[in-house]
Amino acid sequence: MGIPGSGKGTQAQKMVDEYNYAHISTGDLLRNLEKDPNADPADLDKMAQMKSGNLVANDLIYKLAFDAIKKALDSGQGAILDGAIRTVEQAQAYDAFFAEFDVSDDVVAVNLHITDDVAMQRLTQRRVCSPSSYTLPTDLTDEEAQAFCETRGETMIVRGDDNPETIAKRLSAQGNAVLQPILDYYEQTNKLITVDASGSIDAVDALVIEALSNN
Ligand code: AMP
Repeated sequence: MGIPGSGKGTQAQKMVDEYNYAHISTGDLLRNLEKDPNADPADLDKMAQMKSGNLVANDLIYKLAFDAIKKALDSGQGAILDGAIRTVEQAQAYDAFFAEFDVSDDVVAVNLHITDDVAMQRLTQRRVCSPSSYTLPTDLTDEEAQAFCETRGETMIVRGDDNPETIAKRLSAQGNAVLQPILDYYEQTNKLITVDASGSIDAVDALVIEALSNN
């Protein structure tokens, strides 16, 4: 869990590298769908919401995420859900899905906490390698960032929804005020771990691992 810019993707990637979990980012699944020549036009229509910074319809999210989770579980892998749960209604639907697969007791919700102001600052500076969505360190110049992405066979881009207007919209649709009821939901079932995600990537990773190992 975390508001846009909290480092969900970056931290999920670190956990994937460390524990070989499947990384299930609904944002990435949606972006991949856009590039899929066989995508259902009705699904592509639903993605218009994403471009304007709003949440995408639940049925599309469940279709993409549940399918990816099933694949991971069927192959004996654990899964890290990155941005996949953004409303209490979604949290309840995922819980029903987890119960069906008998994994409810294994679920932990990790909240990467930053303020909306820190999020705004991070997102206005964010550059990523495409198509992987790998987030680049902010201290690189554009030329260095481009060269780095090229070593991975990728291109440096600024995400289409990382412009000041859409960022402001995303933070009002998906900021801390909106996240709080979801955190309360997981707190009630003792599944919530909150870490301070305002530090460096490695510092936050260490906090996440420490919190999980004490869980
Ligand atoms: P992200 O890459 O996680 O920042 O997600 C990019 C965009 O995809 C979000 O701003 C939403 O429009 C959409 N999105 C991703 N995950 C969800 C979700 N669980 N529910 C609804 N919309 C989502």
